[in-house]
Amino acid sequence: MRWQEVAHAAGLVGADGRVRPTVFAEMSALAARTGAINLGQGFPDVDGPAHVVAAAQAALGAGRNQYGPGDGVPELRRAVADHQRRHYGLDWDPDTEVLVTTGATEAIAAAVLALVGPGDEVVALEPFYDAYAAVVALAGATLRTVPLLPVPGPTPGARLDRAALAAAVGERTRVVLVNSPHNPTGAVLPAEDLAEIARLATAADAVVVTDEVYEHLVYDGAAHVPVATLPGMAERTLTVSSAGKTLSFTGWKVGWVTGPASLLTAVRTVKQYLTYTSGAPLQPAVAAALADDDGRVAAYVAELQASLERRRDLLCEGLRAAGLDVAVPAGTYFVLADGAPLGLDDGDRLARELPERVGVVAVPVSAFCRAGSPAATALRSWLRFTFVKREDVLHEALERLARLRA
Ligand code: PMP
Ligand code: GLN
Repeated sequence: MRWQEVAHAAGLVGADGRVRPTVFAEMSALAARTGAINLGQGFPDVDGPAHVVAAAQAALGAGRNQYGPGDGVPELRRAVADHQRRHYGLDWDPDTEVLVTTGATEAIAAAVLALVGPGDEVVALEPFYDAYAAVVALAGATLRTVPLLPVPGPTPGARLDRAALAAAVGERTRVVLVNSPHNPTGAVLPAEDLAEIARLATAADAVVVTDEVYEHLVYDGAAHVPVATLPGMAERTLTVSSAGKTLSFTGWKVGWVTGPASLLTAVRTVKQYLTYTSGAPLQPAVAAALADDDGRVAAYVAELQASLERRRDLLCEGLRAAGLDVAVPAGTYFVLADGAPLGLDDGDRLARELPERVGVVAVPVSAFCRAGSPAATALRSWLRFTFVKREDVLHEALERLARLRA
C-alpha cells in the first residue's frame, strides 16, 4: 500500500511495521516513566492568560459548539488580518486571504499537500521541525535541505549555508519552507539570509511557506521580520502562525495561514477535506486575545518574552557550567548544546541515557535531521533543551546536569 511505502521511505514506521511515535511523544513518555525533568517537548508548565481561558469558557457556555465556518470564525479572521497589519504592515483580506487551521501543523500540511506532488522539490533548512519531512513525503515530493548550524559562543549564533541554499533551489523547487525564529536552533534569520531566500525563490518561481509560530518569542531587542514583508514577496508567500506559543496554549491547536487569495484558495481546498473546520469555541477566545482591546495580552506577551530571556540565560549558563558547548538562541524557547566537550559524541544515545544518568530529558538533534546528511553529521553530538519551564524547575534540572561531569 502507498502509505506503507511512503511511511517506510520517510522513516515514519519502524522495522517492526509499527507507527513510530514522534521524538517529542517518545521523550515525554520517557520523562513520565523515569520521573525525570522534561526539558524535551516544548510546552509551558504554566497556563496562558486566565482571561483568555475565561473567554473560551464563555464561548462554550454560549452555545458556540457546532461546526463553525470552514475558513474560521469571522472575528478570528479579522483579528489575524489586523494583527498582521498592526505588527508588520501586511494587508490581507479577512474573507479571502486568511484561513484558520488546526494548529500551524495543519496549515503547513495543507499548504504542502496543495502545492507539491511527485517530481516536485521542497527546500527546507536542516535541522527541521519533524512534521516538514513527514508531510513532504506524504505529498510524494522530494525534500532538499540546507544546513543551518548552531555556532557556540557567548552571543546568539547560527549560520545558514548560503552556497548550499543556492545549489538546492532550482527549477524543480515548488516550495521553499522557511522557519524563523527557527526550531531547533533558535536562529532568527538575519536580513541578508531572508533576502537571499527571497531572491532564489523568486528566480525559481517558487512559493515560500514560512512557519512563524515563534514570531513573538525573540530576545535581546531583536525584531522578527516576516518573509512576506520583503519587496515582491507578499504575492508568493504563505505565512503560518498559531496561538500555541504566543499565548502558551499549545493544546488548543488554533493556527492560521495568510497569503494572496490565489494561493490561499489552494490551501483552503485541501484544509476543507483534512478537517473541514477547526475547534469552534476556542476561536472566539483567540480572536479576543489577538484583538487585545485592553492591552492585557500585549502585557502578557511582553512579560513572557522578558521572562523567557532570563530563563534562556539561566539555562545557557548552567549548561555551559555543566561542561557543554552552548549556542545561544536569538528566539524560540530552545537551546542547542553539544556533548562533545565531555566526550559525549553520540547525541541519540545520550538523550536516551540522560534520564537514568541524571534525571533530565532532552531531545537529540538527530531527530530534526535526515540520517547521513551534512547537518546530521555536524550535529551528531548535540541535544535540544527547552527553557519554557518554571525557573525552579530549570534550577533543579541544572543541578542534576552538573553531575554529567562526574
Ligand atoms: N512549527 C514549529 C517550528 C513548531 O515548533 C511547532 C511546535 N509545536 C509547530 C509548528 C506546531 O504548531 P501547532 O501546535 O500550532 O500545530
Ligand atoms: N513544538 C514543540 C517542540 O518542538 C512540540 C512539538 C510536538 O510535540 N509535536 O518540542
